[in-house]
Amino acid sequence: MHNPQTQDLLNWYDANSRAFPWRARANRTPNPYHVWLSEMMLQQTTTTAVVPYFERFLALWPTVHDLARASLDEVLHAWQGLGYYARARYLHACAKKLCDEYGGEFPREENQLRTLPGIGPYTAAAIASIAFNKKATPVDGNIIRVMSRLFGIETFYPQSLPEIRRHAGQLTSEMRPGDFAQALMDLGSTVCTSKAPKCQACPWQCACLAFKSGHAGELPRKLAKKPLPVRYAMVFWLVHEDGCVILNRRSEKGLLGGMMEFPSTPWQEQSWTLKNALPYAPIDVTWSLLDPVVSHTFTHFHLELSLLKGISHTKPLGTLWDFPQNFPRYAFPTVMKKVAQAAQTHGFF
Ligand code: SF4
Repeated sequence: MHNPQTQDLLNWYDANSRAFPWRARANRTPNPYHVWLSEMMLQQTTTTAVVPYFERFLALWPTVHDLARASLDEVLHAWQGLGYYARARYLHACAKKLCDEYGGEFPREENQLRTLPGIGPYTAAAIASIAFNKKATPVDGNIIRVMSRLFGIETFYPQSLPEIRRHAGQLTSEMRPGDFAQALMDLGSTVCTSKAPKCQACPWQCACLAFKSGHAGELPRKLAKKPLPVRYAMVFWLVHEDGCVILNRRSEKGLLGGMMEFPSTPWQEQSWTLKNALPYAPIDVTWSLLDPVVSHTFTHFHLELSLLKGISHTKPLGTLWDFPQNFPRYAFPTVMKKVAQAAQTHGFF
């Protein structure tokens, strides 16, 4: 049974959805290759700019197998003018990996999608929901704006992100998650615009707290004009078979100097793939990517931590371990306390 607001948005979408070459027509099955290609191109780029590139790529490489057979140079060349060339490299690497390891089929689950080159939390949720109708909620700038207004969220962004994610997740349709995601994107782009939202045309006007209070134009509240940069890392949650968890003491110098932490990759501005993260693993075991993403905002950046879980049968010399019940003895910074909390909430110990 849909939440009434969910149904209102889907009804609006049925009548107002935008047509794009990557979108499946009503009652047609979406093509995962088209969905992935478009989502990669749309990062930091407008739909208008993407359309000719998307059509050119499909003409050159109609399937993911064709793209995987292309040389990186060819792909970079076709990408020229679209900017952010790392996306083109990821695109090519991802196509090759899909063909080498998945027979050219996209995995359907967010967790698996996030192990592929260039696919971070947003893109994984977009592909899972739009291509495979899995219940997932991609949260981008449009959705942040719409949720902040609908629920009258006064908390400053990006601290508001967990609240926004929770609301968006609760509204996401069980039956039509892909349509719901695309409906939110369309609503944010055409009706709930940053400047002068067209509230009279909005299916959520009756429920919208920002509309009721007349503050729509002021939300979402931002900490600063320039958004904080986002850094990403993967945390290695390594449990010994006796129940101890591996710990690490940070270097004395630098941020959180000398404090305890769970080992992680460097905190960098590009999102991580499992393959890129593994060289930083404390021990060579099998790692699985887990659902929770822990967010924390420092003064100068926002940090998004993904969790990898592994089981160890050994405690190599020089490594530090302890039982979770002893964690209160250690000086963990807040961000690491959040990691431990997420791990406990999800039953990792
Ligand atoms: Fe946005 Fe206005 Fe709709 Fe509220 S009523 S969600 S502010 S367009």
